[in-house]
Amino acid sequence: MKFKGTTLICTAVLTLILGMGIETQTVQASDTSSIDSNEHVEHSSAVITDSGDATGNDLVVQPNEILDSHPYNSHYPGGDFNITPDEATPKNNFYVASERDYLQAANAFSSELTEQNSTDQSSPDQQVITQKFDEITAGDEQVPNENVQKAVNYYQNYIDQMNSNNINYDAFKSDIQSIADINNYQELSNRLPELARNGFELPFQLDWMPGYLAQGQNVLIYSHPNTGNIPSTGLGEDETTSKSEYYESNSKLFSMLGFNQTDTEKILTNAINFNSLLNESIRSDTDPAFIKALTDKSSIIPIDSFYNQTGNLDFKTYVKNAYPDASKILIADSPFLTKASSIFNQSNFEMMKDWILTTNIQLNYYYFGKPGQQANNILTGGQPDLESDAYDAIQGYFSDILSNYYGQQTLPNSAVQKVTTMIDNIIAAYKQRIEKNNWLSDSGKASVLDKLNNMKVYVGYPSKVPEKGDFSSLNLSQGESIRDMEREINNYTFDLHTKEFSQYAPYTAWQTPSWYQNAEYMSVDNSFTIYDGILTTQYISDDYSDSQNYGGLGVVIGHEISHAFDSDGSHYDKDGNYSDIWTREDRQNFTNLTDKMVKEYNGVPLFGHSINGENTLAENIADNGGLNVALEVAKSLPDFNANEFFTAYAQTLAAPVDASYYSEDAFKESHSPDALRANIGVQNLDDFYKTYDVKPGDPMWLDPAKRVNIW
Ligand SMILES: [Zn+2]
Repeated sequence: MKFKGTTLICTAVLTLILGMGIETQTVQASDTSSIDSNEHVEHSSAVITDSGDATGNDLVVQPNEILDSHPYNSHYPGGDFNITPDEATPKNNFYVASERDYLQAANAFSSELTEQNSTDQSSPDQQVITQKFDEITAGDEQVPNENVQKAVNYYQNYIDQMNSNNINYDAFKSDIQSIADINNYQELSNRLPELARNGFELPFQLDWMPGYLAQGQNVLIYSHPNTGNIPSTGLGEDETTSKSEYYESNSKLFSMLGFNQTDTEKILTNAINFNSLLNESIRSDTDPAFIKALTDKSSIIPIDSFYNQTGNLDFKTYVKNAYPDASKILIADSPFLTKASSIFNQSNFEMMKDWILTTNIQLNYYYFGKPGQQANNILTGGQPDLESDAYDAIQGYFSDILSNYYGQQTLPNSAVQKVTTMIDNIIAAYKQRIEKNNWLSDSGKASVLDKLNNMKVYVGYPSKVPEKGDFSSLNLSQGESIRDMEREINNYTFDLHTKEFSQYAPYTAWQTPSWYQNAEYMSVDNSFTIYDGILTTQYISDDYSDSQNYGGLGVVIGHEISHAFDSDGSHYDKDGNYSDIWTREDRQNFTNLTDKMVKEYNGVPLFGHSINGENTLAENIADNGGLNVALEVAKSLPDFNANEFFTAYAQTLAAPVDASYYSEDAFKESHSPDALRANIGVQNLDDFYKTYDVKPGDPMWLDPAKRVNIW
């Protein structure tokens, strides 16, 4: 089964929040995701592209690509993108100038870059973990603990099972038969908790997330299902093939389960029709209204009101069984609730049941071993890379165990200590800056300092596997069928997860794997996390000067802290409660500054697109706060070198400067596009002008009255 248990909605939400995060771990060259107001996840752009060679060719600015469509306009900040790379200087385009220098310098690390790029497209975490697993299996490496052994067992069992023609799938067959035998909504409603507990995909999502809009009390979250596995009606020519592949692939799986051809075709067609009905009634995960609803208190309704709107499907029975204490529910997708009675009504019952059957048979093709794999190849159109498939599967089920293990393999304590010292220095400097702040009242300063004093900080990886991901009490033995292993895990996590709902379990850190190239701030518990995956030479190194490290990772740390005080985070108190504790005057002063920042960024053009100052405000505030505080620490240290600081900052944002990188999508997400993020970021800092002798008339010049500094 697809992994559920602890993070059904969490997965949906985090996948949404992370956006390309899932890809980012393998394709590092991605920019950032859209972010909700509760969580800020940063992805770096990359020096190393997934498939590029080590010379950094992807990053070289081609003169003919330099923005013919976007001549330099002194009306805007952001520098001159009408110059060639050779002409670039800190006075006309700081970003291009520093990136060019960096690429030349990067040749010094070419062997390291080659090493990181030499193997196939598998991600660094996959390379490290699967190599260790192979060594453990071969007896060349000691198993560090029971949990890792279980992950190794699953990984090996998965590969063995995919290579076998003789998997016994009787247990799955009887699961499926018992669903096929369901006759009416009440019977289905009675069985929902059990189906959810056993990891079956259902035509809705009903779950909760620790600390999510909690205010001391957990709320359930109701949302649409994933409809991406089954085709819909009304497809154009292009989709006809995928429909025929859908029939062909699933017919093989259904036949292995004992269904005859006539019944199978009817079921598969019903599933398509029901999927179309769902698609007509849901919002997409990227719809701004959907994203907003996830953090909007007005989308929380009393549970009884939810029961009254949900058609013939008896959610009350489900909720009373699984979450007896639930009194409120967040409606993430309101059209899906509004249309519930036209979806879940008696005349659609068979269609819905057939959707459940089809979805769960198709997704679990690997329960059949090699014949299942062969059927699935029809859908995917090729032979799979079994090791990658097995790795994807362990990532889903064993992410806590693997986060802990990967961290231990890759991150020495000395590195954690180094980062922790930087964080301590930056928080101390942040406090000093707040004390000197000239627009907050004394009570406003006190509340900001209180929040800083209570901020939780996580570095690297979870030092202990949390209970939800600790499978040491489970069997999960060598040779066990994957279906049985997954059932054990799903039951364990579901039981713990439902129990935690009643215990009002708070949000805990490390909800995403430690190898993600990320840093994040969470408003709901006033914490920030610097992941192992971001501690690369793009941000920090023992070989770099302090100025370089503070310009790199230091700005990232300051950026995350600043999210506590950005346009969203400033509405949460030190414990993560949504409660405005600033005075009206403080809020007004803050808004005056943020309005100025919106104007500063708004409309700045690049490659025919332009920044939306409102949508990027929170990230621009965080960039500005991060730069200011990291610079302050760097200046206080011996051997401060401003050029090293600023250049290191630009290099964390290194990316190709071309139209394909700066597509329309790059202007739709919550961060400003990398090149402008770098240039406008430094243009707010007086030290930048001193360092590079930038004068009025230079393209990088911004009048002091137009510079905006908030934190
Ligand atoms: Zn951010």
